[in-house]
Amino acid sequence: MRLDSVFRLFLKSACPLCQRPTSTEFCLYCQRKLDQQRFANSSQFWHESPHVFTWGSYGGALKRAIAQLKYEHRSDLAVPLGRQVAQAWLTSPIRREIQPIIVPIPLHPERQRQRGYNQAELLAREFCNLTGCRLQAHALQRTQATEALFKLSATDREQTLNGAFELGKAFQRPAQSTPILLFDDIYTSGATVRSAMQTFRRYEIGVRGVIVLAKAMPSKIDKHQCRH
Ligand SMILES: [Zn+2]
Repeated sequence: MRLDSVFRLFLKSACPLCQRPTSTEFCLYCQRKLDQQRFANSSQFWHESPHVFTWGSYGGALKRAIAQLKYEHRSDLAVPLGRQVAQAWLTSPIRREIQPIIVPIPLHPERQRQRGYNQAELLAREFCNLTGCRLQAHALQRTQATEALFKLSATDREQTLNGAFELGKAFQRPAQSTPILLFDDIYTSGATVRSAMQTFRRYEIGVRGVIVLAKAMPSKIDKHQCRH
């Protein structure tokens, strides 16, 4: 048992979503609310282009948990949230077909400096710890800040993101047979993922798809503020 788990047994902390005292990461009430956002079938969007594997639907308690993770310095929440994605992956039929290398979508260095971490990388790290997938945390780098993406139309968003990424110096080209999957916290229009895939394609490297914690459903995309 990890030391922080031992402490939690004796010292209840506040649930990050409702502030009630809890000995688990989220209180039982909020965990139930989180579970309501979960898709029964995480691979239901795997047939789309690009392929998307998603734990849940962006909204409700999951949206609030992601906001805590990103904007309230709760980097620790990447552990339980990344674990949920890993558990869904481990029971998924896709897992039997591919053993991917995982590449998290990077933040612009300036944004990462402000936040202190990249939430997609932390989620991917926990995911890889539990699934045994290999992580290439710095295979991609973001070369453009995309501050106000949510204000743009879908077409303008695609254009803005063109050339937003470059391969990182630490990137190690995998064997042809080893698929790459991107990893991000939220999937909205897919523009970010397509731009990252294009970057790999320039080097004739294929990317199979993306794993995300949450997918915004079409009716909600317009309202979602796409601020990495
Ligand atoms: Zn709670």
